[in-house]
Amino acid sequence: MSEKSPGPALRVPLLDLKPQYETIAPRVRAALEAVCASQQFILGPEVRTLEARLAAYSQSRYGIGVSSGTDALLLALMGLDIGPGDAVITTPYTFFATAGTIARTGARPLFCDIEPETFNLSAPAVRALIAQQCERRGGQLVHRASGTRVKAIMPVHLYGQVCPMEPLLALAREAGLRVIEDAAQAIGARDAAGRPAGSFGDVGCFSFFPTKNLGAFGDAGLCVAQDEALTEHMRVLRVHGGKPKYHHAFIGGNFRIDELQAAVLNVKLDFLDEWSGRRQHNARVYDEAFARAGLGDHVVTPRVLPGFHHIFNQYVIRVKRRDALREHLAGAGVGTEIYYPIPLHLQECFADLGHHAGDFPEAERAALDTLALPIYPELSGEQLRYVVERIGGFYGAAR
Ligand SMILES: *Cc1c(COP(=O)(O)O)cnc(C)c1O
Repeated sequence: MSEKSPGPALRVPLLDLKPQYETIAPRVRAALEAVCASQQFILGPEVRTLEARLAAYSQSRYGIGVSSGTDALLLALMGLDIGPGDAVITTPYTFFATAGTIARTGARPLFCDIEPETFNLSAPAVRALIAQQCERRGGQLVHRASGTRVKAIMPVHLYGQVCPMEPLLALAREAGLRVIEDAAQAIGARDAAGRPAGSFGDVGCFSFFPTKNLGAFGDAGLCVAQDEALTEHMRVLRVHGGKPKYHHAFIGGNFRIDELQAAVLNVKLDFLDEWSGRRQHNARVYDEAFARAGLGDHVVTPRVLPGFHHIFNQYVIRVKRRDALREHLAGAGVGTEIYYPIPLHLQECFADLGHHAGDFPEAERAALDTLALPIYPELSGEQLRYVVERIGGFYGAAR
């Protein structure tokens, strides 16, 4: 008999949606069947209910259900009339859609580096960009090198922790800029004053991609907004800009959320706080296990700002020899991911912005040493401790 090497002692996928679905399957099926029975698939009662509930959940006045998180960002930019000749200040260390949507409107992404402890947009870096690279021309802030009009700041609440907004809001007020929050990963996250993601700026953008804390059965998203006229404008742009129907003063798109997706989300929203609470619990289990394992020389665990309510869409550590560790963990049955391996200023499609390696050193460092570990709510303590043990094994063996 040949010796077969034993498989991993335990499997810990990065994400497994099935155990969560099992707990809510009867309710979800009933909600889906009700939509099927009604045959009302477009902007019906489930969408209106979801919009009202998520506006309230995010302490915002209005909700606008849309087809994805990406389209939420695009609709926000279009709603604020951002386009060719304009620029939007944002972070290079985020999912592609943040800067991708800015570029799709014809505007220029103006990148600023991140804070290394939270990975979120650095307010001092934004202040420096405005002070050193921009000037006022006729009441308008202009980015000198490109000649673009700076219109907005788009911070991202990365991994589920709110980007501290007070300093950014102050800069926006001083410079007359709009604020669009990319809250795709951060529904329910709050800052130390208890203010929720999405409620700070002109528009807050959420994604319900299945891997987010509130995940649809496909693509969906939502904008929250505070201004009635802006909300009405975005609602019109959501249906091709036609108002009344077939009369187009504006060019919009089809950015509608499906009634079926809204029905799923209305069921899941009842459980969101419980699920995010379990993610927070899992994060504490990790924190304590890492501390006990004495891996401080090799692993930096996530920093939660004092009083902040981090919803841990991702639990991201910084490590030495990241790629070798990732391979080691894959061999041990542990799923991981790199969010994100290439900062956006170094993406091929943005070569025309003229950036080089070294322009945003913190973002570039993060791209080299961050690793997301499994954190989804249904993980067991045994699985979490196994992940830390395997990481300890990797660095122990390397000592
Ligand atoms: C997921 C995500 C998006 C895009 O959302 P989709 O629903 O996938 O279009 C945008 N920004 C960030 C930071 C995200 O994580």
